[in-house]
Amino acid sequence: MQANVQLPLFDSHCHLNFSDFDGDRAQVLNRAKKSGISHICIPATKQQEWLPLIHESEVPSKENPVDIVMALGLHPWFISEHKPEYLEVLDKLLEQRSARVVAIGETGLDFFDHNTAAQVRDKQLALFTGHVELACLHKMPLIIHSRKSHDDILQVLRRWKPERAGIIHAFSGSEQQAMEYLKLDFKLGFGGGITYPRASKTRHLAATLPINSIVLETDAPDMPLNGYQGQRNEPGRVKLVAECLAELRGISFMEVAQATSHNCRSLFRI
Ligand SMILES: [Zn+2]
Repeated sequence: MQANVQLPLFDSHCHLNFSDFDGDRAQVLNRAKKSGISHICIPATKQQEWLPLIHESEVPSKENPVDIVMALGLHPWFISEHKPEYLEVLDKLLEQRSARVVAIGETGLDFFDHNTAAQVRDKQLALFTGHVELACLHKMPLIIHSRKSHDDILQVLRRWKPERAGIIHAFSGSEQQAMEYLKLDFKLGFGGGITYPRASKTRHLAATLPINSIVLETDAPDMPLNGYQGQRNEPGRVKLVAECLAELRGISFMEVAQATSHNCRSLFRI
């Protein structure tokens, strides 16, 4: 392989718009490019992020070393900040969306805190269902955050059957849950989590699930890889996730890079 061949790595989940990157975003992107990342998908987490992201996307792509696409949605972590009318705003934005708005998310359910009040759960569920309805209406894929909530997520997805499915980001559920998502045509996102030897269940799934159901991600600035604990994560490290996955599956790095990138591009239709 020639040294200057562009690898096709795709970071399907990176919060590059967060202020963590304000000081050195251009360098982060240049490092990502050098590591072979050709595409990054930025999922929004709050309504205030939508317009700046859309505006940024109008920068001609030749000025960006990496192709950037985005998803628009409301993250369950910030449930107290989301107003019900934001879904109507989202509906309008999706109606007139540019080609760079490729998915709806980040949305989902987070019941990690077992003390989550029933009222908060209901609010999360209503908001998530609203996103799924929009995915059906606009025929777009979803980017879903799920913690201790896979069965609730699956229930909503089985009811609505969004035709373009989407990605379950940072998947770490059971094999049975993985198979249920695959039946609904969803892809599973694997990131830094699989670089930790103790994550044996998730590593086993990443090693054995059909490669056409897998996409790579960093979730930068969060979810540092093994060996980088305590540091800000960044999109270039999706290369290390790909190397880890290649080793786990016993296939070449290039095979992983090409297959997972193809999965993202066909899902997002780019
Ligand atoms: Zn995220």
